[in-house]
Amino acid sequence: MRIDSVDFFYLAMPEITMDADGSQDALLVRVQADGVVGWGECEASPLTSIAAFVTPPSHGACLGVADSVIGERLDGPDDIRRIAAAVTRNSMDLLQAPHTFSGIEIALWDLLGVARQEPVWRLLGQTLSLPKTPYASVLFGDDPQTTLERGRSLVARGFRAVKFGWGPFGTGTVEADADQIMAAREGIGPEAALLVDAGQIWDTDVAAAAQRLPALDDASVTWLEEPFHAHAISAYADLARYGARVGLAGGEGAHNVHMAMNLMSYGAIRFIQTDTGRIGGIGSARDVADAARARDIVYVNHTFTSHLALSASLQSFASDVDSTICEYPAEPRALALAITENHLDLDDNGQIAAPDAPGLGMSVDTAALGDYLRDVRIEVDGTEIFRSSPLPVSTTTGATT
Ligand SMILES: [Mg+2]
Repeated sequence: MRIDSVDFFYLAMPEITMDADGSQDALLVRVQADGVVGWGECEASPLTSIAAFVTPPSHGACLGVADSVIGERLDGPDDIRRIAAAVTRNSMDLLQAPHTFSGIEIALWDLLGVARQEPVWRLLGQTLSLPKTPYASVLFGDDPQTTLERGRSLVARGFRAVKFGWGPFGTGTVEADADQIMAAREGIGPEAALLVDAGQIWDTDVAAAAQRLPALDDASVTWLEEPFHAHAISAYADLARYGARVGLAGGEGAHNVHMAMNLMSYGAIRFIQTDTGRIGGIGSARDVADAARARDIVYVNHTFTSHLALSASLQSFASDVDSTICEYPAEPRALALAITENHLDLDDNGQIAAPDAPGLGMSVDTAALGDYLRDVRIEVDGTEIFRSSPLPVSTTTGATT
């Protein structure tokens, strides 16, 4: 097959709020090769990611992503690796390139899986797709009572693990944070796993983070996620020296495999979380999962958007026996749920698994997306270099157009 086209669909909720909720917009990617279609999603600012695809070259190591993708052969997994390496090399000075390519790479795997009638996880060399316990990933309430009630409702929906993050956490006093943590524990009960995401609130302030450790341990919190700037690796290592029971987690800010490797090697983390839609796609996420296993670090996906992104994120560690939990966007905006016809719903055991179906196993519901589509035109010197395509009428992943 040869890659004929890459189309981007910038989708957004009618109103974007300042909540730290990444499901408010989406950049959906469609790749076509010899009449076969694959879908992917970038976890990034849509407009800048489109620009990184079509931009004219700045110099020999700063090409738009399109220059390394369009017209390339796609006959097997090695071609996806080869194209990824070309993007890394040719766009090394274009910092948005990994974000843009992540969605393309996901679509390439989907396309290849559809062409071969194999799930992506099998194309990656895995023989099993093991069920994972999804943790509901939600924001802290504005007050402890709201957090408590949110936790209660999530457990009632069947979740056995819940992560609270962002919101007011870390912005007030140590006591206020302790109240939030205890409310979260009370809401989900003593049995469910509790995870806390600080959303980089302390930047590099290790002492501020350390003040919260007793409350985290008192509430038997499994991990404290992103206490610091994503790349403040020494701060992570310094906090780990306090010897708290709570493990440190991070990695969603990794834009390439090396960033995740550094956090694992020098940050003393116990959980590495990468976002397949940011780190370069499924192949890069797989590399991190393999490296984590070798270092006794637990690999977990970061996914806060659609079920297309969720399926993509599950592919890279489908068979890993030590990775028993996965992030699950429990309260996404309507847009994120509208992207696919099918969803990865919890089974009777409260678990989900990467689908045993061709490609990503998800059907993109283009008919439901019209109201969210933003019309984009990019022009240079009066010449149009990008114009958004209308959403295709065909709705099923892998359908011939
Ligand atoms: Mg997070």
